[in-house]
Amino acid sequence: MVRDGDGALGYDPDAVRAKYLAERDKRLVAGRADIRDLTSDQQFARYREDPFTPVTARDPVADDVDVVIVGGGIAGVLAGAHLRKAGVERIRILDQAGGIGGTWYWNRYPGVMCDVESYVYLPMLEELDYIPTERYASGEEIRLHLQAIADRFDLGSDALFHTGVTRAEWDEEAARWRIRTDRDDEVTCRYYVLAVGILNLMKLPAIPGMEQFAGGSFHTARWDYEYTGGGPGEPLSELGDKVVGLIGTGATGIQCLPALAAAAEHVYVFQRTPSAIGVRGNRSTEPSFAEDVQPGWQQARMDNFQAVMLGKAVDEDLTDDGWTQHYAAVHHPPRTEGMTLEEYLRGGEDLDYGIMEEHRQRVDDLVRDPATAAILKPYYRYLCKRPCFHDEYLQAFNSPNVTLVDCPGGMERVTEQGPIIDGQQYEVDCLIYGTGFEAELTPLFRRAGHDIVGRGGATLAGKWADGAASLFGMMSRGFPNLFVMPAPGQQAVVTVNYTQLAVLGAEFIGGAVGLLDRRGVTVFDVAADAEERWTQKIVDSFVDGSRVMSACTPSRINNEGHPEAMNPRNGNYGRGFGDYFEYRELLGQWLERGDAEGLELEGT
Ligand code: NDP
Repeated sequence: MVRDGDGALGYDPDAVRAKYLAERDKRLVAGRADIRDLTSDQQFARYREDPFTPVTARDPVADDVDVVIVGGGIAGVLAGAHLRKAGVERIRILDQAGGIGGTWYWNRYPGVMCDVESYVYLPMLEELDYIPTERYASGEEIRLHLQAIADRFDLGSDALFHTGVTRAEWDEEAARWRIRTDRDDEVTCRYYVLAVGILNLMKLPAIPGMEQFAGGSFHTARWDYEYTGGGPGEPLSELGDKVVGLIGTGATGIQCLPALAAAAEHVYVFQRTPSAIGVRGNRSTEPSFAEDVQPGWQQARMDNFQAVMLGKAVDEDLTDDGWTQHYAAVHHPPRTEGMTLEEYLRGGEDLDYGIMEEHRQRVDDLVRDPATAAILKPYYRYLCKRPCFHDEYLQAFNSPNVTLVDCPGGMERVTEQGPIIDGQQYEVDCLIYGTGFEAELTPLFRRAGHDIVGRGGATLAGKWADGAASLFGMMSRGFPNLFVMPAPGQQAVVTVNYTQLAVLGAEFIGGAVGLLDRRGVTVFDVAADAEERWTQKIVDSFVDGSRVMSACTPSRINNEGHPEAMNPRNGNYGRGFGDYFEYRELLGQWLERGDAEGLELEGT
């Protein structure tokens, strides 16, 4: 904390606020969030193609199974594993990807790794008797681990990859979901599970003229190793005579820069907003790790991480990294008895300022050119943007072949040669879009990418047009025998470690299907009053954070500068991030009671 000798703050809060607002205003420009809609834009359709696995011809499938799961990422694999444990035999995973992995299937850019500690992020470590090799695992290690879970629970043999669902419709008479795909399949199933992911839709910005660019170009979620050479963890062997433009300096952009800097003739990094880059501190897992842990260790470690993130007291912070030291701290500033709200908010601001000063100082410590360092310093509150962690990114700007280009207002246009910024043409051979994904706020029905048609022809898109309505964030009235994996902003809770939420959702779905089977239920639907009560609970606990968030540089966290437009129905169970532990308790009790409270049942 920055305080001088007599305890007074060593900074002028008004000046800092003014600086933060000025930096915000530079970025609040019209059209900043405009995108090419890759779900419908044919001109840019090639950006979605799978560069990793060739699409092979196959005959359409027509059959009936117990469960169809859309999505073979963490959520889908865990749902499949827990459904197997509940005794479900015929499970079909459908995915547009060419294999298991979800985000870890698609994101294979050089340097990809998970920012959340591997010991809590990789699921089912104890069951698979696996210890990650590093504190922060590479994308490839995570993908292979998810594949191993899929193999263990035999989820691959009936999976249909390179297959997109085009429509899912409840057939009342047959009491089945009828699923149609872009490979002309027609699969019916008793239960339909949406595990479509959260940040699953690539965001390609709409920059005037980008279609005219004559060089190579791709999004980081479809890295073109044919163009760059190499592979994940291998040098990019084809870039030696290439000038590369990297657009985007979020969690992805910062991870792939060091490999680009090491290989390309030159790299221009086009930065709209600098990320706060904290210490990574990756290291190999100690050989003694496996010997030191006791049964149940992973759940305990996940709970410890989650408790710290929720500001709960713990004996020891087992993860002890930037998430727990900084992100948790700014979301839960100390509150002592008798403190007024104003004092509490000021305390939070001071704490945040101290953390951001550390990050700005780190830039000065690591980047030699003061002009470049000045542009790399983040001026906003730490809670404004998803934090980043890296130990080689900032140093890459010391290489003579890396140039940082400041473009807070974005790019004017792209020509055949490359971007134009402030009237200057940057000539590049290749443009790499590290521009991220449509935000968590993107409604489920859009992320799912197909019409979900329930009773009486009603669509989920229609029902949720003004916000979600559900029981537990996982079931919705009028859509019988449908489960949705819980997600942030969808009437469940937020966990920084997404795996922990996916585990909870998967355990619930497996448990619920087991329970319904034991009771001989053929069809369930959510009772109207149960859905109303749950939705009202979500609305009642909504915290309007727009006072703080409107002062942030725009990002997906503050709805691109419009936090006031957040819909309370798309909130969480409990205040803020929601109360994960209470939510888990409630789901556990529901399963334990076994009375399927809140559901209307047929077949019993
Ligand atoms: P982000 O949305 O975080 O970043 C996108 C970047 O592209 C930002 O720097 C953004 O600038 C910039 N950008 C977007 N549009 C334009 C434009 N029109 N012109 C110029 N720049 C533009 O995407 P990421 O892929 O980096 O990360 C997305 C999320 O995925 C992360 O927040 C994280 O949740 C997850 N992730 C996790 C990783 C991990 O665990 N290691 C790794 C990678 C991703 P601006 O900031 O101004 O909007």
